[in-house]
Amino acid sequence: MEIVLLGTGSPIPDPNRAGPATLLKVGEFEHLLVDAGRGCIMRMAGAGSLPGFLAGVLVTHLHSDHLTDLNDVITTHWIMSQQPTPLRIWGPVGIADYVNHMMDALAPDVSYRVAHHDDLTWEPIVEVIEVAPGDRFEVGTSSVSVHRTAHEPVEPSIGFRLEHGHYVVALAGDTIPCDGVDEMCVDADAYVQTVIRDDLVMQIPNQRFNDILDYHSSVIDAAQTAARNRVGRLVLTHMVPAPQPEQYPEWVAIAAEHFDGEIVVGDDLTTVDLVERD
Ligand SMILES: [Zn+2]
Ligand SMILES: [Zn+2]
Repeated sequence: MEIVLLGTGSPIPDPNRAGPATLLKVGEFEHLLVDAGRGCIMRMAGAGSLPGFLAGVLVTHLHSDHLTDLNDVITTHWIMSQQPTPLRIWGPVGIADYVNHMMDALAPDVSYRVAHHDDLTWEPIVEVIEVAPGDRFEVGTSSVSVHRTAHEPVEPSIGFRLEHGHYVVALAGDTIPCDGVDEMCVDADAYVQTVIRDDLVMQIPNQRFNDILDYHSSVIDAAQTAARNRVGRLVLTHMVPAPQPEQYPEWVAIAAEHFDGEIVVGDDLTTVDLVERD
């Protein structure tokens, strides 16, 4: 199984970082998208993936940076389909309303394309399944459990623990450390966490920017969660402030003071191959 960081950015526009999105390549043509931030379809193409490969889309929470290109996923999945094919989306309570509103906004486009292409006789088929902590579901050949994360006032927010064969991947969205994240991470081969550097963010004299401190994991938080739950690899994404490559060793060193497993600081399209783990 491969984990591809499609987008490692945040709401702050960055020419080199797409918005938050992670792709799990469970099989050659069985992929899972976790969140759908800015540019995720472009990055999927860069990762050799197409919407038609998606066994499902998992959504951690309804913050716009994690969802802004879900419409592109829905539309592109539909217009590239050769037969009526459902796109399945799992997310927290509220995702059904979100998608319904999005489908309303897409209605003119859908009508134009159906009118124009004789062979496109169906509208997008989107199946939305709202899930809550404690739920478990199958997607493709993987089993997924849902865990509470802590990102108030964003409520609900959830993370996913995906099990496939003997591989376990913990996928958190934005969250501070909490019991739900701990249970999601126990003995996982990899733990993907959105992080900020609180020591740097607090130096910037901007209250709206400083506000993000109380609902994101710092690098130290993520490393301590990884260590406490004996994960194999810690994968950092959605870094704020976004580091330059020459700063990556500093980010790794901070995490390594608390966690002695492998630490990955992600670029867009950074790929973690779980087969390689000893
Ligand atoms: Zn968020
Ligand atoms: Zn975010």
